[in-house]
Formats: sequence, C-alpha cells, structure tokens
Amino acid sequence: MRLIDLSQPVYHESPNYPTHPAVRCEVLTDHPTDGWRTEMLVFPSHTGSHLDAPLHKIPTGISIDAFPLETFAGPAFIADLRDSEPVRKITAEVLLAKLPRDLAGAAVILGTGWGAKRSRSEEWQHLSPRLTVEGAEWLVSSGVRGVGIDHFSVGGTTEPENSATHSTLLGAHVWILEDLRLPEDVFSIPQPCMLWCLPVHLKGHGGAPCRPVIAVG
Ligand SMILES: [Zn+2]
Repeated sequence: MRLIDLSQPVYHESPNYPTHPAVRCEVLTDHPTDGWRTEMLVFPSHTGSHLDAPLHKIPTGISIDAFPLETFAGPAFIADLRDSEPVRKITAEVLLAKLPRDLAGAAVILGTGWGAKRSRSEEWQHLSPRLTVEGAEWLVSSGVRGVGIDHFSVGGTTEPENSATHSTLLGAHVWILEDLRLPEDVFSIPQPCMLWCLPVHLKGHGGAPCRPVIAVG
C-alpha cells in the first residue's frame, strides 16, 4: 500500500492563520548535554493540517474527540479547482461541474492549488479561493461527511462569509479538514480515493492537528 501525504509541515514560525500567534517549536533538551532530544511546541490547535470540530464554531457542538474515528477514514472525491483565480467563489455550480452526483457518506476535498503557495504572502493569507455558504449548503444536502481544502480556511478570511460557511458545515456535523497540500498525482488517481485523517487525541478541543493521507493500492 502506498500513502500519499497531504500534510503541511509544522515548524518554528511556519506560516499559519495570520491572526493567530506565531508557531513556536523550540529545543527543550538536546544532545550531548541533556542526553535526550525534546522539543517544546506552542501553537493554536488549528495549525498545519488540522480538523475543525463543530465546537470550533457552534457553542453546543461536539469536540474533535467526540467523533467516532471511523468518520475520518473512508472514501473521498477530489474536486480539481486548480484553475482557481484569487478569491474564487466555490459555489454549488462550480462543484456540480467537478464532482459526481452521488456524494452521500463521502468526503470532498477542494483542490485549489493554494497549498503550494503556503507562505506569508498576501495571496496565501488573504486571497484564497473560498467555499460559499451556498456551496456549503449544497455539500451538506449531498450528505458529505467531511470537507477538506488546501488552505487554512475553507471559507476564506473575509467576514461574515467565512463564519457562515464554517457554521453551515459544522452545524450539520460535517468536519472540516484544512491546510492540506495536494501533490500533483492525487488528481489522476481513481475516485473515490481512500482518505485517512485521524486527529490527534485532544480532549474537548474545537479542532486538532492530523496527518492526512490517501491510501493507494
Ligand atoms: Zn480550523
């Protein structure tokens, strides 16, 4: 079995959500003085490739550890949106042209190409393609179990639209997988593909880092 890695790396001062504190990864103990290499990590739970739980946006929503693990392993369809211009609105019409009709029980990954632009540039931080509320409603009504995107925010960074897109998905118990990086070959593998994105076991949190992969063969 081959695993295609969809994750973005986390490291000291790695690019992250512009309003979040900077990522801190510092050596706590090291060779030869301490005899052990250990790092101290300080960053928001929504850093690098991560999952949003309903609690992230819905006050009464469940936390990331309350989902059955099975929901993070299963079929996924990848929408090839690499033709996206900055701030493209990903509507139901856009999705209809890129996805099969039957999405029930599957995850959908929005592949915009923005994962390859990850840096502190204006384009990456503020001009990403974004799923509209109407697009999110269409995905919910299609019965998807999760939605992923190769950017840190599925709804972009403009309010109130970003909040509304998150609320639409999370309010329907649909998890969100953000800050992916999609290698070229994921766009040519048979669909649905098999996505695994198990969250780190953070108790009661509104989200958690994960290591998203597609299993092939
Ligand atoms: Zn998030």
